[in-house]
Amino acid sequence: MTTFEEIASTVDAQLPAHRAQLEDLVRIPSVSADSFDQSQVRKSAEAVASLARDRGLDVEVIQLHTESGKVGRPAVLAHRSAQDGKPTVLLYAHHDVQPEGDPAGWDSEPFEPIERDGRLYGRGSADDKAGIMVHMAALAALGESTGVGVTLFIEGEEEVGSPTFHDFLETYQDRLKADVIVVADSNNWKVGTPSLTTSLRGVTSMSVRLDVLDHALHSGMYGGPVLDAVTLMARLIATLHNDDGSVAVEGLTAYDDADAEYLEEDMRVDAGVLEGVELAGNGSIASRLWTKPAISVIGMDVTSVAKSSNTLTPSCTAQISMRVAPGQNPREAADALAAHLESNAPFGAHVSVDIKEAGPAFKAGGDTPATIAARWALEEAWGSESVDIGVGGSIPFISDLNQVFPDAEILVTGVEDPDTRAHSQNESLHLADWRNAIVAEAALIARLGNEL
Ligand SMILES: [Zn+2]
Repeated sequence: MTTFEEIASTVDAQLPAHRAQLEDLVRIPSVSADSFDQSQVRKSAEAVASLARDRGLDVEVIQLHTESGKVGRPAVLAHRSAQDGKPTVLLYAHHDVQPEGDPAGWDSEPFEPIERDGRLYGRGSADDKAGIMVHMAALAALGESTGVGVTLFIEGEEEVGSPTFHDFLETYQDRLKADVIVVADSNNWKVGTPSLTTSLRGVTSMSVRLDVLDHALHSGMYGGPVLDAVTLMARLIATLHNDDGSVAVEGLTAYDDADAEYLEEDMRVDAGVLEGVELAGNGSIASRLWTKPAISVIGMDVTSVAKSSNTLTPSCTAQISMRVAPGQNPREAADALAAHLESNAPFGAHVSVDIKEAGPAFKAGGDTPATIAARWALEEAWGSESVDIGVGGSIPFISDLNQVFPDAEILVTGVEDPDTRAHSQNESLHLADWRNAIVAEAALIARLGNEL
């Protein structure tokens, strides 16, 4: 058995060494985008592998070749077996980074880590090399004392959309199998306030074609009794929302139980909403972003202004994108939207819908034992209440994990805060929060092993 204080003091004693290892990782420009030097991605995989070996794990660097001919970036897969029937935890992070972008936007060298005002600056200092080092430091603090099985999976292609992730999960399913999965690649609500990311919206998109005439007509000769396709498409699109801007489609899941409070004035600034423009929808801002559906028109094929003439347009196609609330099957939501569009065809216009994509949402499994343990660990480490947050977009690899390992409890944690600027210039890590994240993860693993 151990105590929380023992874990925290071990982490603190080892922290300078882990900070140095984090800085070494940041110095490797492991940009996974195709036009960058992929030998650096290999180099960072080898560096991560060596850190895992130092922690007593069996380590392999794997570059997956799929049957369909795709080649993955080097990923690190490392393992230590569980003892005495204890659970196994899968620790996920990624070692690739985004390009540095315009160097003029950086106040210091992107790949030379430097501390200013309690933050460590550099590309990957937070996203996600700090996530890797949370896992490494937690493992180092615990040694083999907990008996918990550990699988470390550090991929090298997250920043290019994890193209071979699903294949990797299926190929190495037996080696990745775990009771609890910790994904250290999200953010905390703010500096000093830890979070679990418990929901991600799903996404679906469809094209809607509206036909009203079998050919274009002179608008002077026929305009009046016949409405053009663009006007009718506008009427159809207008049926998607109620007068307050909330989604009007039957059969969509929506709920309002967001834990965090996102103030309207903050959201206006963050989103750049112009003065006088009213926000749409109802319920809390956080629920409108995270737990309710959203429908947007993202494209339309119509005659351009430059090519327009006095003609009634016979047909028109719009591309509609919908964010789906966590908990609803995106295919079911897409069918509901398609049915709405077809049954609201204005003036009997012919409407046909082609569903293009349906990516699943993610909703954590409520107050599962691992979630309760994680919340406890976060609150002990930070000395402040943990807030459940959502993300309005989707993180495709989390739904992949959920699909391949439906029985595992997935915990989405992270080291980022609103000032981190992941993917942007002057990316940085809040060092005190990073230390807290390490303590929390070590305490969580010890508790999963019944040693704390
Ligand atoms: Zn990331």
